[in-house]
Amino acid sequence: MNVSDTGEFGFIDAIKLNTLSDETTVVKGIGDDCAVYRATPEYDQLITTDMMVRGIHFSEQTTAPFDVGYRLGTANISDIAAMGGIPRQAVVAVAMPVDTDLGYMSALFDGLKEVCHAYKVNLIGGDTVTTTGPLTLSVTLVGEVPKGEAVLRSGAQPGDLVVVSNTIGNSAAGLALLLAQIKGFNFCKRAHQRPEPQIKLGQWLRQQGATALNDISDGLSSELWDIAQVSQVAIIIDEARVPLHEETYKLAASLQTNPVDYALYGGEDFQLVFTAPKSLESSLQDLDGITIIGEVIEGTPSVQAITKDKTIRTLDGKGYNHFHE
Ligand code: ADP
Ligand code: MG
Repeated sequence: MNVSDTGEFGFIDAIKLNTLSDETTVVKGIGDDCAVYRATPEYDQLITTDMMVRGIHFSEQTTAPFDVGYRLGTANISDIAAMGGIPRQAVVAVAMPVDTDLGYMSALFDGLKEVCHAYKVNLIGGDTVTTTGPLTLSVTLVGEVPKGEAVLRSGAQPGDLVVVSNTIGNSAAGLALLLAQIKGFNFCKRAHQRPEPQIKLGQWLRQQGATALNDISDGLSSELWDIAQVSQVAIIIDEARVPLHEETYKLAASLQTNPVDYALYGGEDFQLVFTAPKSLESSLQDLDGITIIGEVIEGTPSVQAITKDKTIRTLDGKGYNHFHE
């Protein structure tokens, strides 16, 4: 059945069940002119939006409809993680061709709802239209953070440590594997299809006093350049310390590519990169899934890397991307 058979209201009926995770903050969800939600007193409100277009941000070839929805949710929730915040309320706007399969859209919404439930996000409204262009989805997400405590990109100080979570580059490696239809490597493929936002870690970092925080959506190099430019500092990292998954090393060896490039120029890992005062060094070193990769220094904003053969190179900044067009 196509969405043209059900119409806008049939579509909304099909997706409106099971949309609330935390009813205590919702006065009215789907079904009125606006949704009504309650903000927490003494909290600042965060708002972010992220859009995905079929053929540009996802394709049939590499991503099942459930995973398209999941990744759309993650991209938004990850922005809240990157402020040290708590994700709360989402609305989703959909523009779809009239011949879109209703089953495809239901599966996509199941994926979106799954990640929303996992991070206690309520889906409280949206808009639905048809288009002569490709399927396009846009989520707007509201989050909260204790007043004045949002962790910006601008607070990195010379002397701070540069730190990342878990392993980086998995998603780019996963995409390369899916496009080349290589068997196995299920960890990286899953990291591409169903990335997890780092909500708990973001809140913990805010409480610990991280000085700058960013989620890795456009590649580690680009995110570091962001921090360097808005904080007006230079950053130096040691490439050998960038944590990669063993599957990424294996893939790079078989394709004769430089494994660290998947982390530096890949993107959509939705891991966190942050700076923190040196006084936190010992508590950070004790944590699983946290790796210190470099240091903030004084200087003209730039990102340098110590390479494997101990030379120093300046990393490519924003807009340069080895893995996407
Ligand atoms: P209005 O005409 O007042 O904009 P709509 O008929 O567009 O209302 O939508 C009816 C209800 O369904 C509203 O609560 C709206 O938020 C919700 N809704 C519409 N499209 C979506 C969607 N894609 N996802 C979630 N909720 C939606
Ligand atoms: Mg409407």
